[in-house]
Amino acid sequence: MKIIKTKLELSNYLNTFRELGLTIGFVPTMGALHQGHLSLLQQCKLKCNVSVVSIFVNPTQFNHPNDLLGYPKPIEQDIELLTQLGCDVLFLPEVAEMYPNDEQWEYHVGDLDYLLEGEFRPGHYRGVTQIVYKLFNLVKPDFAFFGQKDYQQFLVIKKLIADFDLKINLVACAIIREKNGLAMSSRNVRLNAQEKEKAQLIYQSLLFVKENYAHYEIDELLDKAKQFYLNDADIKLEYFSICDQETLEPITAKNISKGIALVACFVGETRLIDNMMLD
Ligand code: AMP
Repeated sequence: MKIIKTKLELSNYLNTFRELGLTIGFVPTMGALHQGHLSLLQQCKLKCNVSVVSIFVNPTQFNHPNDLLGYPKPIEQDIELLTQLGCDVLFLPEVAEMYPNDEQWEYHVGDLDYLLEGEFRPGHYRGVTQIVYKLFNLVKPDFAFFGQKDYQQFLVIKKLIADFDLKINLVACAIIREKNGLAMSSRNVRLNAQEKEKAQLIYQSLLFVKENYAHYEIDELLDKAKQFYLNDADIKLEYFSICDQETLEPITAKNISKGIALVACFVGETRLIDNMMLD
């Protein structure tokens, strides 16, 4: 695996493949890799001739300095995992390489900026689109792979690609879970054993909603789902919503749009998100 730290070297290196007519697949990550990230790389390798993974903890998308400072960075282990899986290129830039100037980025993605994650993490998607646009511009991938785990982010990137008319095929990859149902996340390492156990309720509440979707009205279902989060002082629910899969607007009637349940909550000090398609 070739490890590249500068933009110039990356574009020169990828140009040689492009000139040979090879397809380039791209998996952007913030590192602390787990099976969820690796499943994206596996799909990338199946679809594309050359696989590029980036690891960059993007400061502009963090809302709290402590979340940024405490973000896990096991880079040696990440390199080992990517090498084992046969990743072709790892792009591993420093912050100064990606943000050499004090730049402004004013792209607004529309309502997705304000709904759900947008409401609880103001400015988050501005930071996400800022870095993803830079990385897309640099890698110029034929295919880009994103996880359904961050479903709102997936929709935001879809809109970014459409708004800037980028020639990139976006691929959504299924959520990879632990045996107990907890969605894999780099932040899970911050959970202690007891919190990990408690965090199972996220998956259980989503599953409950999916299994009972046909049996209750939406309001009733939401009430029942929220009750999962009431009995433990360590659990703080931010939102549990049933939304339209395309717009993420809350849905009131099941037959009008396809539904997805989305949740964000704190388990102890750690904020977790998850979701599940309902039809
Ligand atoms: P991150 O490093 O958290 O920015 O995530 C990088 C990519 O991996 C994003 O497209 C995520 O949606 C995806 N991802 C993270 N966790 C999972 C998971 N459990 N299953 C599938 N994809 C995931």
